Amino acid sequence: MCGCGPCMKLVKAHGNVESARWVYFANRVGEQLKKEYPNVKLVIFAYIASQKPPVNIKANDNVAVQIVTLGIRRGRPYTDPKNKMANKFMQEIVSRWQKVCKNILIWDYVWGGHRLMTFPDQLLNLHNIRIFAKLGVQGFFPQENHAVGRMVYNQGCPFRSWLLARAMWDPEECGDGEALETTFCNEYFGPAAGPFVKQYYKYLRKVHWESGFVGMTSGGTLTRAPFEAPEVTAECIKIMLNALEAAKKEQNRTHIRRVEFEMLPVKFMAASDYGRVKKFLPEKKSARELIAEIRSFIRGKSKDVKTWTQYKRVHRTLNMVEGTGDITAEASREYGLGRASCAYDGNLATSWTPGLGIGWTMIDRGERQFISRITTVFHKMRYVRRATYSVEGSFDKKAWRVMIPKKVVTIPETLQQSGKVNDVYCFDDVTLAKDMEVRYIRTRIHKMERRLGSGEYGMQDAQHTEQYFNLKELPAVLLNSIVKE
Ligand SMILES: [Zn+2]
Repeated sequence: MCGCGPCMKLVKAHGNVESARWVYFANRVGEQLKKEYPNVKLVIFAYIASQKPPVNIKANDNVAVQIVTLGIRRGRPYTDPKNKMANKFMQEIVSRWQKVCKNILIWDYVWGGHRLMTFPDQLLNLHNIRIFAKLGVQGFFPQENHAVGRMVYNQGCPFRSWLLARAMWDPEECGDGEALETTFCNEYFGPAAGPFVKQYYKYLRKVHWESGFVGMTSGGTLTRAPFEAPEVTAECIKIMLNALEAAKKEQNRTHIRRVEFEMLPVKFMAASDYGRVKKFLPEKKSARELIAEIRSFIRGKSKDVKTWTQYKRVHRTLNMVEGTGDITAEASREYGLGRASCAYDGNLATSWTPGLGIGWTMIDRGERQFISRITTVFHKMRYVRRATYSVEGSFDKKAWRVMIPKKVVTIPETLQQSGKVNDVYCFDDVTLAKDMEVRYIRTRIHKMERRLGSGEYGMQDAQHTEQYFNLKELPAVLLNSIVKE
């Protein structure tokens, strides 16, 4: 953004917000536009820096503002009292923009998270569209409302496209969406499998609403949601296996494929949370077998090279969880694919993050073991320059003993200056003074920092890429991250 005198004066005069100059600029362009194109509107964005509305300025009639539902929670409708963050957004962003501009458009993230995620309730989107329609907004853009055949396997994916098209036409016609959901299931998955798919949607929705969970964002769930609990995942698999069996009995190839497609998110959920889900699973399949099934389904769908490159992205996601299946780990909270198990899977391409702030991760080694050396990799220099952490161990998760006292790890200055942000890792390698016998090992990240342009350190969300125990020698990839004397 320009920092010259006149620009800063303009910004300051209108509430000291960036959007002031956007509205000012759009008005000037709009004046010229109107002469030649009287029916055309000019759209500006209320997004990140420009999200807050300006004061003491009004947008011209041929200027529209598109407000993005950036970062707000979507586990509950935006005006539900439980969804405090969204309530604030509706009051402080949407309502206030309506006073500045009469043409409001909404850019909404209608999905709930990362690829292959289960989404607990498609009808949430219907609630939100209705809220915006009542407010008189003039347009609604649903991001990630993919049709079948695109690369999104979220639960309810084809149903979402169909439902939202209707809701955008007339939200009141949709009622509460339940009847439309039943119609869709019966006609899309067929009369045999349809009722089971409906049962699956309904079950997830019930679990979700009874839990009151709100923390869904565009990157996944913040903390493990009740609808992602292992027994819920297993129950969903049971219901969907019934759907598959029904479709097979019907011998309708299209219906079978559609049910298999609909099962991908819940299969992925089971594979990526395998340590906790396995004891509830109806069929004894390993995490790797579940992932192989997902891969084979995708392979069967990709007919040409162009589609295949799109499928690569899904394979990359599958690669990420493939090694985490048998690890039992937990964390203060988990964000999207940043699962606790990613910190113990031996794979530097995966990492744990709580999404926001700091926290802890813990591994259950299954039995008591002697630990002599702990090697902790926080992240690449690109993301982390300095980490403050501690490690403790336990037999029972109740009484804890210090293994590594609170400690600050900084990437040596010479390596920081090297600029090799993707080759150098912020990590620590500690040989304990004496071997300790433990079963559970918990790592607390007290502080995580990056480096600002000024050379000072600034706060960063916690990152934990890997932790190795009793290594004989350092993995070769970490050799770039130490200064040889
Ligand atoms: Zn300027």
